[in-house]
This record gives sequence, C-alpha cells and structure tokens, in this order.
Amino acid sequence: MKTKITKRYCIATIFACISTYGTGVLADDTTHFHPKGKPPSIHTINILEQARAVLPFDDTRDFEENSKGFIAAPKSMKIKAKAGHDAWNMERYQFLASGKQFSSIHPSLQRQSTLNLAYGLYEVIPGIYQVRGFDLSNVTFIKGKTGWIVFDPAMTQETAKAALELINEHVEKLPVVAVIYSHSHIDHFGGVRGLLDEADVRAGKAQVIAPKDFMQYAVSENVYAGNAMTRRSFFQYGALLPVNPFGHAGMGLGQNIGLGEPSLMAPSISIDKPLEELVVDGIKMVFQNTPDAEAPSEMNTYIPSMKALWTAENITSCVHNIYTLRGAMVRDALLWSKYTNEVLYRFGDEAEVMFASHHWPRWGNKRIKEVLIQQRDAYAHLNNQVLHLANEGVSINEVHNVYEVPPSLQNAWHVRGYHGAVKNNTRAVINRYLGFSDLNPTNLIPLSPSDSAPLYVEMMGGAKKIIAKGRELYAQGKYLEASEILNKLLYADPKNQENKDLLADVFEQLGYQQETPGLRNSFLAAAFELRSGFPEGAPPKVSGPDVIRAMSTELFLEFIGIRMDSKKAEDLAFKINLVTPDNGEKFIAELSNATFTVIEGYQAKDADLTITINRTDLELVMMGVKTLQAQIDDGTAKLKGDNKVLKQLAGTLSDFHVAFEILPGTVNKPVVEEVLNDFEVGPIVTAHE
Ligand SMILES: [Zn+2]
Repeated sequence: MKTKITKRYCIATIFACISTYGTGVLADDTTHFHPKGKPPSIHTINILEQARAVLPFDDTRDFEENSKGFIAAPKSMKIKAKAGHDAWNMERYQFLASGKQFSSIHPSLQRQSTLNLAYGLYEVIPGIYQVRGFDLSNVTFIKGKTGWIVFDPAMTQETAKAALELINEHVEKLPVVAVIYSHSHIDHFGGVRGLLDEADVRAGKAQVIAPKDFMQYAVSENVYAGNAMTRRSFFQYGALLPVNPFGHAGMGLGQNIGLGEPSLMAPSISIDKPLEELVVDGIKMVFQNTPDAEAPSEMNTYIPSMKALWTAENITSCVHNIYTLRGAMVRDALLWSKYTNEVLYRFGDEAEVMFASHHWPRWGNKRIKEVLIQQRDAYAHLNNQVLHLANEGVSINEVHNVYEVPPSLQNAWHVRGYHGAVKNNTRAVINRYLGFSDLNPTNLIPLSPSDSAPLYVEMMGGAKKIIAKGRELYAQGKYLEASEILNKLLYADPKNQENKDLLADVFEQLGYQQETPGLRNSFLAAAFELRSGFPEGAPPKVSGPDVIRAMSTELFLEFIGIRMDSKKAEDLAFKINLVTPDNGEKFIAELSNATFTVIEGYQAKDADLTITINRTDLELVMMGVKTLQAQIDDGTAKLKGDNKVLKQLAGTLSDFHVAFEILPGTVNKPVVEEVLNDFEVGPIVTAHE
C-alpha cells in the first residue's frame, strides 16, 4: 500500500489527492479500512464506556442551539472545486448520523462530530445568518443597509461562493459590501475571492476589514518552519486516514478542511486600536483586538444595535490549542482568559446572542454569561494551576499526568478539548514560562533516540523478548507501557515489520481512546504509516499567488537563510544590495561565517553586487513563475557588480521535502534535489489553527 506523489501540487490538491486514499473499503464499524487494522479491544471499550457513564449527556442544550433557526440545506452534500474534484463532501460523515455508538470513537468526540453534521443556512437572529458545515469554519452574514457584511469567508473560494448562493436564494439576494476577517488563519480568509471582486474594493464599493497586523501574520506564521508544519499536519489532521469510524471522524472545529482554491485579499481597513468603533454599511460595530491568544492577529466584535456578540475563534464550543501539534508558537492561556474576561465585563451584561466562526450560537444573556465565565476560567485555571504545580516541582514531563480540570468545568461540554488537548496544553504552559527542560541532567543533552535505543534493546534481551513483552502488555491493555518498549526497538531496528505492526496496533487502541481529534489522528496516522508507509515524492508547493504576494521581501530573504545549507557556504563571503524601486525598499543581504543575514533600509557601499528589480517582478520569482536568471537575461532585473555571487548563493540552497520520517522506517527516502540556478522559494504551507 504505497502511493507516490509525483507532481508538485498546491497543498489543497495534496490533501485532495490523499484524502481519497483508502476509499473503496467499507465505512462501517465492523470492517476496518486497513487490512492490518484491529477493532477496539475490550480495554478500549471499557475506557470509552466509563467516559460515557460520567459525561453530562443529559445536557442537550448544544443540540437545541445547533438546530435553532434552520432555514434550508442545499440538495447536494458536495461542493465542486474549480479543478473538478470535490471541494467539500459532507456525505462521507453521514455514518455519524445513524445514532449508533461507535466503540472506536470516544463518545465525547462522536457527540461533537454529530453536532458538526449541521449543514446549511441558519438564522441567528433576524439580520444575522450563518452557513454552517460548508467548510471547516462558518460563513456569517449580517444584513447591512445596502448589502451583506460577511464575517469570515471560509477557507476556499468555492465553499464561500456556495454559502453566498445559499443565502441569496433563501433570504435575500444582496451584494457583499464588506468582508471582515476575524483572524489570520486561512480558514477565516481563504474564500474571500469567492465573495468579493478586488476591483470593487479598490474602487471603494466594498470593504475588507481586518484586525491589527493581519497581513503580516496571515503569511508569516507558516513560513520559517513551513515544511515541518506541513509534515506534522499529516499527523494532527489525519490527512491520510479515510473518513471512517476507524479513521478520520471529524476535526472538532468542523468536519474537515475545504479543498477548493484558497485566496487572500489585503484589507482596505485595519483595526489598530485595542478597542475601535466603526460603522460598516450602516451598522455600528465595536472591535476588540485580541492578539497572541488564538492567533497573533484576531478580534472579537460587538454589534450594539443587535445586542450581538461575535467571538471570532476565541470562544467557540471547545477548548483550543495553547500548543498545536502541527507546530506553532506556544500561545498565552492567561492573556486568552483576560480577553474573555474583558468581553464578559464590557459586553456581557447586554449581549443577547453570541456567535462565532466555528460551531453554533448561544442565545439569552444567562447562557452567554455561563459560557463566557466557563471559557474564561478554563484558560485561567490551566495557566494558574499548571504554574502552581510547576512551583511545587512538577516538571514538563509529568504535568499532563498531574493536572486536573476542576469537576465543574469537566461537566461543561464547550470547554472540553475538541481542538486543544488538555494534556498538551499543560505542557505548553510550562514550556512558555520555563522552557522544555525538566533539568534532570540525563535529559539535558540526551542521546538521540536512535543512539540510545540499541543499548535499551540489548539490556532488554533483544527483539524477541521485547515483542513478547509488548504482546503481553497489549493483551493487558497497557498501551502506553507497550509503546515505551516497542518504540525502543523501532529506533534500534526500523526494518522490523513485526515490531512496527505491533506498535501500530498499540497506537491504534490509544487513538480510539482519545477525545481530542488531533491526538486521535496522530495515533491513527502513526499506525497507518507504520503499516503502509508515508507517500514518497516531492513537497507540496506554495498555497497560491495571493499568499506569496502577501509575503514581505524581508521574509522572503530571511527564508533564504533558512534554506541555506551552511556547510556549503563555509568558504563564501559576500554582500548583496537589493533595491525594489516600485515600493521604495532596500536591503543588504550578507553572507559571512556560513550565515545569511538580512537588514532592511540599508545599502552597503562595498557590496559585491547590487540587484535592482521591482517588487512586482520579484513576486514572479517568489511564486516560481520566472527565475531570477530569466529576469536578469531579459533586462527586468538590473545588476551592478559581480554576478558570480548569485550562483554561489543558489548553490547553497536546499529544497525541503515533506516526506521526512516522523517514525523511523516509514518513508522511502525522497530524491533530494538541489536548486542550483534559481531563487525558487521553498514550500510554504498556510496550515491553520
Ligand atoms: Zn478556524
């Protein structure tokens, strides 16, 4: 079962092509999609039964709120992409609609994924509507004086457009006069060109409104470590897993990501103050910037005339990531809680409806306050009690097994970990304040796993004994213990398929036991790769021209420093001046000590080379449409000085490949290409959340 990705695709296409992998097998709970797959063990079934017994299933308010105001659903559960494939397919998740309890899905996750089956148009209150279940995020429409004001245009143009068509058909046909981005993650801006024509924005006929520093973070959060994030997202999002009770069972925030064409349009209005009022198409809005909580650039919004509170992705029906497994900077749980407290005290006495970019609204002031208080406390408790434990000597390697959510919060569905795993979040808080080390000297400069594993294997008496003990632990339901020893053998002997298969069985049971989709998917994805391997091939390409155009020249140059294989630069030293006359920018890029550094706003008098090229032409190089050499050859780029340094620089650059191993022995080594003659920028993923 090996697949090969032979061409370069945009990330959305990569997800489209591999998410169909493994189809043609039964999607029920009796036949596993993988020939080596196992059903849940009696131990797993018991754990899930225990969870079912203590969870507050008698609180059904979410279901009432989820279905309230339903207007219409389209006939088809699929939305076609421009490229011909399905940009969206809700049909695949209908196994969740049967009402049957799956013993391979945590009952709390199954409940959340059942709620996320909502598909269609809903009235929040007269004048506010949401299209839910058309993408990972909601598309929200507010009726302004002359047209629709849209909060968050989904992830792709096709799904956003389908949402607009649905409201135009069932409520009122109006033009979109404003799009308001709640934050800098792609599932909240990617569909903008499905709703708005950029010429209308330029002509002032429509507005794009965004929180402070939106453009900077829409792109930059995912550039420097982009390739690693892409690879890791295969674990967190389970992109190789078929949608199935044994595989992908929803993403907590929504069922999946839209697979159409993402886009990005620069805002015409930036909300820069902590609190700012603006009248948008006749509707007064109060924006509250909330940087460095859920995203580096984000804002909540209050609409006084409607007593309506939009909580972006800061407050949805889950606890979110303080640490996100695909990789991102650790977030600030205390700050997050404080923003929610500000919402509570500033708008909480007045608000009568609260709605967000994922999940369903809350109605009535009492319910809104209940949710706000519990959300505030969930993040503050996490921050404070983890630090309390740390101050008592609990380390980052233990805290997830020590920290407990207070019982009153455990019983509130909306603060359960459907996106962020509480166990990961606890470690994130320590990481934020104290860093990764527990200071046990054995862990200060540890051997690499592949160097320490042979000693462990030798001391445990070899592979046979380890596998025998692993089987014993597996039979006892001691899956974490089994993974400890089988993992050592995996690193000592990555080719031992018997061990890999047993470890896959262990991971699979752990996956079934998880409430958080990111954890479930990571365990199940690891099982999948141990059994079948990861598709080899070339990296996914950049997300699209809009995203590249949004990247600053400085960021582009800095990324060259990351692509540089410094071993190839040890004997090199030069200075390059770069001038982009059309936007008035200038830079020095300097190579010394096998290190590439960039400074904006300066020019070196002793530069080896000065390159003058308009930023608009440089963008073609950044997008891979045209090489810098071609621009030099046709005179678009002007050179002064010694152009051999360009060849030297290009000779140091590597292309990153997404098919690197997370677990040993799971990927056939990809062919390593070196980029020798152009300034092609490496893969950038706009992973989200
Ligand atoms: Zn989102």
